[in-house]
Amino acid sequence: MKTSIKRIVTIALCFSIALSLFASSTLSVDAKAKKKAAKATKNIVVVLDAGHDTTHLGCHYQNFEEGIANLYIAYYCKQELEKYNGVTVYMTRYGFDCPYGANPDSSGDCLTGRVNYAKSVNADVLISLHNDYDPDLDKSQNGSKVIIPNPNYRPDICVKGSDLGNSILAQLTATGLNVNNWKLCPNGTGIVTRDSESGTYPDGSAKDYYALINKAKTLGFPCIIVEHAFCTNESDRINHLSTPEQYQQLGVADATGIAKYYGLSLK
Ligand SMILES: [Zn+2]
Repeated sequence: MKTSIKRIVTIALCFSIALSLFASSTLSVDAKAKKKAAKATKNIVVVLDAGHDTTHLGCHYQNFEEGIANLYIAYYCKQELEKYNGVTVYMTRYGFDCPYGANPDSSGDCLTGRVNYAKSVNADVLISLHNDYDPDLDKSQNGSKVIIPNPNYRPDICVKGSDLGNSILAQLTATGLNVNNWKLCPNGTGIVTRDSESGTYPDGSAKDYYALINKAKTLGFPCIIVEHAFCTNESDRINHLSTPEQYQQLGVADATGIAKYYGLSLK
């Protein structure tokens, strides 16, 4: 009698375990489906950073002024990106002047302010828009490149930066710009990382050289720096950096690359 009760209890127990396993596997399938749906409808927050300002001047050469050009490109990029569903776009500055204290002796506070602003609006990504200048006026330096986070400390952030950078670079080269083989970090791809020589992340690995990139990585989101073209290269300057229409072409290229990376669809 005892044995048969034991058997019944065992069978009942097995049955209830099987039932609960089935229920939990059904639940996890449900949870996965819900997670997937949430991911598909997740709103992306893009923060565009028009590099430099009237306090922290960028490169200037002949009639080209980088801080103004970057602001044009950022506005055109925002305007184009807002044609897509599922994205909110902010800019770290909307005017010519520095909104982060305008300290002429240092750009550190300004750069920190830009990253903190991105964090405050829950940025998925911070995209800093720039143009380049060769200090030796080396005419062979031309075209576009994207500086991405290095693989240290948060390798996942490096991967995101690389994929997004490649997507934007493909659009920029479609406007006729070359891929820049930057002489500081030549690798032929136009997607580059640059390490700090002294700074380290909490795990002891080399920090990214650029403050925007290393501060954003420390706060947990990717930042990339898009260098559209060289003002010291005559072809780049005349054909890509001279008119509002040309800035619009660059801003639209950036936006298209961003939209393709995130799989956004037009409204
Ligand atoms: Zn710059």
